[in-house]
Amino acid sequence: MHQTDLEGVTRDDEFWADDVHVVLIAQGTAFRVRKETLSSVSPVFADMFKNAQPGEETWDGCPMVRLSDSAVDLRRFLNVVVKVGLDASEDCTRWRSRGGELVCSVLASVVRVAHKYQADRVANAAADRIEKAVDYAPWTQDGRDLEKHAPGKITLLNAGVKITLPQDAVEVVNLARIINRRAWLPHALHLCCSVGDLDILRRGITRDDGQVEALSEDDHARCKRAVPLLEALCCETALRTYDPSNKYLFRRCTAKAGLCEGVMKGLLVAFALKGIQADILNISCENARYDSSYRRHVGFCPQCHGWMLEHVKSLDRMAIRKLPACFALEEDTLMD
Ligand SMILES: [Zn+2]
Repeated sequence: MHQTDLEGVTRDDEFWADDVHVVLIAQGTAFRVRKETLSSVSPVFADMFKNAQPGEETWDGCPMVRLSDSAVDLRRFLNVVVKVGLDASEDCTRWRSRGGELVCSVLASVVRVAHKYQADRVANAAADRIEKAVDYAPWTQDGRDLEKHAPGKITLLNAGVKITLPQDAVEVVNLARIINRRAWLPHALHLCCSVGDLDILRRGITRDDGQVEALSEDDHARCKRAVPLLEALCCETALRTYDPSNKYLFRRCTAKAGLCEGVMKGLLVAFALKGIQADILNISCENARYDSSYRRHVGFCPQCHGWMLEHVKSLDRMAIRKLPACFALEEDTLMD
C-alpha cells in the first residue's frame, strides 16, 4: 500500500523495512533499506552514510538521502543488492525475472546505478552479462525475431538476455560510452541499425523510467555511414555463401546428382529477390540459419548441410570482423 509521509514522496511497496535505518529518495519514491547492505557493496554509499550530519533531513528518525537517480533504476539496483545478491560465479543468473530471462534494460539500470556508486562487483557482473548478449555469434544465439511487435521493433534472445530493438541497443551504446566498454560498440551499433528510420535513434526512445535515450550526434553519424556498407557486406556474404561454382561444398554429397547444387542456386535466387534492408542484422543471408530445421526446410543432404554450416560460420566470422570498420570505430573518429 502506498503511503505518503512527506509531501510529494511515496513509500516504495517493496523496499520498506521498519527495522532498518536509511531512507533513500529517488524521483519522489522513498526506499527504506539497510545501510550495511549498501555500504558493503559501495564505498560511495558507505561514505555518504558515515558522513551524515546530525540535523539533516530525517524520516521517522531515519537519516534521509536524496539521490538523483530514477526510481526505476534504483529499484532495479536494490532488487539485486538487497533482495537477490550476487551469484558465487557473479553471472547474474539469479537475477532472472519471472519469465526466466534476464532483460537488457534491467541489466542496464543496474550497471548505471552500480557504476555511479562504485559498486564495482555488481556493475561488472551486470556489464559482463550485457557484453555476452550483444557480442553474440549468430551460430550460438538462442533465438531471434522472437516477437515482432511493430515494424522496426524486434526482440532478440541472446545469451539468456532479452533485447528489445532498437531501444535497448541505443541504451547499450550510451552505457558503453559511460563505463568505457568499447568492445560493445560494433555489435551494439549494428543492432541500432535494425531500425528502418535511423532518425529515431537521434530523436530518442523513451526508457522504462521516462528518460529519453538517444544516440549522440557522432554515433548517429556512424550508423548512417554504416548502413550502405552493411548492405554491401550482406550482399557480398550472401553471394559467397550461395556461390554455385563452389564445388568444394558438394564433394561429399550423398544426394542424387545435382540436387544440392540446385538447392544452392534456389537460395541464391531467393536472396536476390529479397530486400536487403531486412537482412542487415543477419549479416549473412537469412536462409543460412544455424538451426536444425534449416536442412529439412532447405533440402540439402546431411553431408552438404554440415559443410554449408561450416562455410557460413567462416563467412560470418569474416563479416563480423569488418563491423568496427563499417562504424569507423578503429580510429574512433569519423573521417568524412
Ligand atoms: Zn548434398
